[in-house]
Amino acid sequence: MPTDDFHTHSHYSDGSLSPTALCELAARNGVTRLALTDHDSVEGLAEAGVAATAAGIALIPGVEISAMWEKTLLHVVGLNIDPTNPVLREGLRVQAGARGQRARDMAERLSALGLGDTWDNVLARADGDANRIGRTHFAQALLANGKVRNLQQAFDRYLGTGKPAAMPISWVDLPTAIRWIEGAGGVSVLAHPARYAMSATRLRGLLGVFRECGGRAMEVATANERPNVVAQLAQLAQRNGLLASQGSDYHGAHMPWIHLGRFPDLPAGCEPVSSAF
Ligand code: AMP
Ligand code: MN
Ligand code: MN
Ligand code: MN
Repeated sequence: MPTDDFHTHSHYSDGSLSPTALCELAARNGVTRLALTDHDSVEGLAEAGVAATAAGIALIPGVEISAMWEKTLLHVVGLNIDPTNPVLREGLRVQAGARGQRARDMAERLSALGLGDTWDNVLARADGDANRIGRTHFAQALLANGKVRNLQQAFDRYLGTGKPAAMPISWVDLPTAIRWIEGAGGVSVLAHPARYAMSATRLRGLLGVFRECGGRAMEVATANERPNVVAQLAQLAQRNGLLASQGSDYHGAHMPWIHLGRFPDLPAGCEPVSSAF
């Protein structure tokens, strides 16, 4: 079982656990190095640092930045960042504000679609902070109100790209996201490359651009990925001179198919991203 989990969420974004509970669960699950990588937020890292020490594990400060490349929404994980870096903080402040505004717009859109009032529900799930609200919170609210049968249906019908309640945000562009991370002393990692619904040709193009922009790693071992896909990602990382990362993308009990610290081993021949820490 892997002992490094470099992709997880807390309730500072769309995870359900506090950073403290996340660190305690990590220790119980045998994770010895944990990266907290909340969406566009470093707010949970201070609490996570204290909790990691108490739980006897190492915390790798991280973030997962929403970024645009040629009209495609990408996620770029930053590992081993300095969360006090002013340029990174200012960038994330702007992203969080845009997230809060989108949440209000989405609640209105859902209501106009006849799906009821979701605002109080999503706000409560985001600990009362509108700037933390993500599409996962809306999916949970729709599920709680009986409007969908499961989270996936909420994305398929209403919240996914191109669906009626998907309100696009002008997220930061890919080169700038990489600059924020690398400028804060971190390693930029292309998150879950197999999940962007791109052709193999376009993905190869993206990996070239990612590297040219200063990106240094990509996720290879991610949860619930088929073994042949993991092998392909390992090959792509090696061909493009990228380090290989690994992580569960744990969110909590509302995504019960993901377990903290559980995902395939990194295939032989990959250079682990931790060599750059
Ligand atoms: P946001 O950053 O608010 O746009 O939300 C993105 C998050 O929504 C992702 O990190 C996932 O947790 C979740 N998500 C996005 N697409 C899907 C999908 N098709 N099915 C389930 N969850 C999804
Ligand atoms: Mn998420
Ligand atoms: Mn992601
Ligand atoms: Mn994630």
